[in-house]
Amino acid sequence: MQYISKILMTEFVTHDTKRFVVEKPENYIFKPGQATELSINKSSWENKKRPFTFSSLNEDKVLEFTIKIYPEHNGVTEQLGKLYPGDQLILRDIWGTISYKGPGVFIAGGAGITPFIAIFRDLREKNQLQGNKLLFSNKISKDIILEKEFKEMLGENAIFILTREKKNSYEHGRINKEFLQKHINDFSQNFYICGPMQFIVDVKKALDELGAKPESVVIEM
Ligand SMILES: Cc1cc2nc3c(=O)[nH]c(=O)nc-3n(C[C@H](O)[C@H](O)[C@H](O)COP(=O)(O)OP(=O)(O)OC[C@H]3O[C@@H](n4cnc5c(N)ncnc54)[C@H](O)[C@@H]3O)c2cc1C
Repeated sequence: MQYISKILMTEFVTHDTKRFVVEKPENYIFKPGQATELSINKSSWENKKRPFTFSSLNEDKVLEFTIKIYPEHNGVTEQLGKLYPGDQLILRDIWGTISYKGPGVFIAGGAGITPFIAIFRDLREKNQLQGNKLLFSNKISKDIILEKEFKEMLGENAIFILTREKKNSYEHGRINKEFLQKHINDFSQNFYICGPMQFIVDVKKALDELGAKPESVVIEM
């Protein structure tokens, strides 16, 4: 199926990431963490499909996407960054990606945070945030998507790590075994990982070595 949906609003949430509020097609039903393939409804772009996760909840009257723009790719996200309210997107079927299966540790790299936005917002609605923790890695602090909202939702359980900047109240370095041991005391719980491929491979390997059970590690590629 294809749905043409109008953009209602756009705004920057960081220097390179934009929030798109988009009309929600009727009977378009999704779960937190799910995604669709999206195109821009403009000549020569309508068949260029890219996957993006809904950062809104199914109960919301509109759809929201949180999209990092890569001007250097000369691709779809660069064009998305140039769109205005009134421009149209093509939305497609919804597919299952990461989904919540109980409290645990969410580990995200950069724009890999997007499925966790909807999952945490859903848990907030249900008053079930307790017992969850977020470890969120970025290059520098200004890259962090929705830092304030994650702090409000999770308090001390939102931990931000920067790989290319040293700053008070942020961890510095990479998410490796030492870092995981410092912040996690139970490796038998659920883990959710989303980010660039190498990030996922490295974090998964570290978790394996620390005793996490393969069936408890949910991965989004
Ligand atoms: C299930 C899923 C859900 C996702 N959800 C989100 C989301 O909600 N928000 C979000 O921001 N992202 C999300 N992503 C990632 C998102 O799909 C990509 O960022 C997006 O497809 C990039 O599209 P693009 O056309 O701009 O660039 P690409 O398709 O990545 O690249 C276009 C071209 O640019 C060139 N290129 C690639 N990398 C580079 C580089 N480093 N430097 C220079 N040129 C390069 C290549 O020639 C490539 O063909 C998701 C991905 C998946 C798999």
